[in-house]
Amino acid sequence: MADYDLVIIGSGPAGLTAGLYAARARLKVLILEKSVPGGQILVTDWIENYPGFPEGISGYDLAEKFRLQAENLGVKIENGQVQSLDFSNPKEKKVLLKEKTITCSSVIIASGASPRRLGIGEDQYMGKGLSFCATCDGPFFRDKVVVAVGGGDTAVQEAVFLTKFAKKVYLVHRRDQLRAAKILQERAFANDKIEILWDSVATGLEGLFGIERVKIRNVKTNEEKTVDASGCFIWVGIEPNGDFINGQVETDEYGFIIADEHMCTNIPGVFAAGDIRNTPLRQIATAVGDAAMAAMAAEHYIESL
Ligand code: NAP
Repeated sequence: MADYDLVIIGSGPAGLTAGLYAARARLKVLILEKSVPGGQILVTDWIENYPGFPEGISGYDLAEKFRLQAENLGVKIENGQVQSLDFSNPKEKKVLLKEKTITCSSVIIASGASPRRLGIGEDQYMGKGLSFCATCDGPFFRDKVVVAVGGGDTAVQEAVFLTKFAKKVYLVHRRDQLRAAKILQERAFANDKIEILWDSVATGLEGLFGIERVKIRNVKTNEEKTVDASGCFIWVGIEPNGDFINGQVETDEYGFIIADEHMCTNIPGVFAAGDIRNTPLRQIATAVGDAAMAAMAAEHYIESL
C-alpha cells in the first residue's frame, strides 16, 4: 500500500489550498516543501487583489494564514526537496527525495516559479546590491539610488515600494509601454522618485565590492550609458520550478506543465496547480482556484482506483 493517497509538491498558495481541500476530503495527504511554506507571496510586500482583505495584507501574513488553515485541518507539511519523480507504476507513484522515496496514489505539482535572470552578473553581485526581493532588501537602500528592471506587475509594484527607502528608483523597461496593471502604472507615474528609462535594457553591473553602477542600453538608439546606483532589482518574469519533473509529465517549451481545466496532466492521477501550470494568469486567486480543482480531481481519481 502506498504511503499517502496524495502528495503535494510545493506549499505556496496553490499547494496549501490543495492540502486543505484534500484534508477536508479525508485523504491521507502530505505537502512537501523545500524551504519555507508560503511560496513567492512571502516576498511580496503588500497584496490588495486577494479578496477578503479590504485594507490589503502583507504577503508574509497571508502565507501564514494559508499555512495555519491547512495545518488546523490536519495537513502534514514536511521539509524536503524533490529530486525526481517516477510514474512508471500508475498505482504507486514515486516521489524521490535525497534521503527517501515516498509512494502515493496521486500527485499535485504546485512547485511554483522563480524570478528569471538576465545573465548580467547576478551571481557575482547577489547580496552585494543585487536582489530579487524588495521586501527583504529594500531597507538596505535608504537614501540610495537603485535600478529596477522590468515592466510587469512585479517590477512596477516593487519599484513603488522601493521608494519608501530609496531616494531615487530608475525603472528600466525594454519597451515604451508598461505591461503592469493600470492601477500600478498610475502609482508609478505619480511617484516623483521614479524615473522610467523607456526602451532600455540593463546590460551589466559594475563595482568593486558591491554594485556602484548599472550599465544601460537604449534598444532603439543603441546608446549606452552608466547609471550610478548602489542596488539593482531584477523583475523580468518568472521561470518554472520544475527541475525534478525531468520529462515525467508534459510541459510547454518553457517548462510550464500542460494541464486541462480539471488540472489533469497527461499522466492519470498527476495534477498541476498554480504558477507551475501553463496558464494565462498567475495570481494568488487563480492559484487557489487551480488548487481546489486539482484536489477535487485527485479525490475523484483516488476513489476510482
Ligand atoms: P511578467 O508579467 O512576465 O513581466 C515581466 C516583465 O519583464 C515584462 O515587462 C517584460 O517585458 C520584462 N522582460 C522579460 N524578459 C526580459 C528581458 N530579457 N529583458 C528585459 N525585460 C524583460 O512577470 P512578473 O511581473 O514577474 O509577473 C509574473 C506574474 O505574477 C504575472 O502573471 C503577474 O500578473 C503576477 N503578479 C501579479 C501581481 C499583482 O497582481 N499585484 C504582482 C506581482 C506579480 P515586456 O513587457 O516587453 O514583455
